[in-house]
Amino acid sequence: MKTLLASTASHATDYLARLPDRAVFPQAGDIELLENLGGPLPESPTSPQEVMEKMARYASPATVASAGPRYFGFVVGGVLPAALAANWLAGAWDQNAGAWVMSPAAARLEQVALDWLVDLLGLPPETGAGFVTGATMANFTGLAAARQHLLDRLGWDVTTHGLYGAPEIQVVVGEEVHVSLLKSLSLLGFGSQRVTRVPADDQGRMRPDRLPELDDRTILCLQAGNVNSGAFDPAAELIPLARQAGAWVHTDGAFGLWALASPELAPLASGFEQADSIATDAHKWLNVPYDSGIAFVRQPTALQRAMAAGPAAYLDGMAASNREPDHYTPDMSRRARGVEIWAALQSLGRSGLAEMVERCCRLARQMADGLQESGFDVLNEVVLNQVVVSFGSPEHTREVIRRVQEGGEMWAGSTVWQGRAGMRLSVSNWSTTQADIARSLEAIRQSADRV
Ligand SMILES: *Cc1c(COP(=O)(O)O)cnc(C)c1O
Repeated sequence: MKTLLASTASHATDYLARLPDRAVFPQAGDIELLENLGGPLPESPTSPQEVMEKMARYASPATVASAGPRYFGFVVGGVLPAALAANWLAGAWDQNAGAWVMSPAAARLEQVALDWLVDLLGLPPETGAGFVTGATMANFTGLAAARQHLLDRLGWDVTTHGLYGAPEIQVVVGEEVHVSLLKSLSLLGFGSQRVTRVPADDQGRMRPDRLPELDDRTILCLQAGNVNSGAFDPAAELIPLARQAGAWVHTDGAFGLWALASPELAPLASGFEQADSIATDAHKWLNVPYDSGIAFVRQPTALQRAMAAGPAAYLDGMAASNREPDHYTPDMSRRARGVEIWAALQSLGRSGLAEMVERCCRLARQMADGLQESGFDVLNEVVLNQVVVSFGSPEHTREVIRRVQEGGEMWAGSTVWQGRAGMRLSVSNWSTTQADIARSLEAIRQSADRV
């Protein structure tokens, strides 16, 4: 075991050492290597050592260097050293984090991680949370708590009776709602298109003057961090209105919520800490490994009522005094996600996290300034870590993006923002430096020159 894990560590450190300078998207030849991983199912065993050799030789080169410093695609985040190391040790532990009795360590680390998050994001102290796979499931989980709470209040137990004949719930979303939130709504029986959409302004923020009538049968879904512009819905204005009407406010804060961890950036997200439920991703800006999302719910009983499974004989007698992780998530058995979140927070501390989030935003500003100085058109107000840039006509812009991606120096995807084709860049990796931004700007200029 010692030899196996030591040589695996060596494969991993070799990989990480090459990460900053290899092609960010794998070259065609690297992708062809993947053919070596298939073929018929082995009839007989292979030594673990050989398995790892094969994986390192044929799969590593065809990975995308999204953990590296010049990957700006989607919003992915990298992986902090302490979080990666914690992931390895947790792999050795192989804990089932579903119940306290299956892992006091996992349950405790998750509880501590939750307490720290509530503190550093400024959420109400009573806040409960489920540790789930990502923001999609966190949206699902928060909205399930919303559904439970609103219908409970109307005397309808949705857990036992379902939605057949239930009082109708109005769901209000912004024009710029993320597709994953619509998917969550459809999984919960609300229907992805049976929503009231509120128009947005030119940065994608929900317009308070266009809000429909809210009441105590309404779920208002806000966004902290637009996937294109990074803009925040005006929560400080919207949430008190919703609260007055008795509505439930859910927030999709997959990456933007982390602004609350920085005193400098927190004013952007001010008000969101008052939401009834909030979805976020630790695998994005907290830079822990996949998969790791969190659903915060201000009234933990609403979440517990929605998520705790019914009685089962073999679950009887579990310690009532401990927080039972599976009373807060759709899953029962699952990996111990809280471990890496705990390790990331222990390693960064309050100041380290604030500094990391602020640094990403400064680098996004550097990127935007450099693009503008090169004569390109930055399409959004760069308030956070997101930059959308146009290189001219849609065809021209798409061709520049294609060349940038092919060049391998960096990677960013395409989008359409306010009707214009653009390249979308997200700076969300702890290891990105000013030099990486300069190098990426040079790669973009060269690609644009060639088109
Ligand atoms: C990434 C993202 C999601 C989806 O998160 P997953 O972790 O991929 O499930 C939802 N909303 C926003 C705003 C996002 O950026």
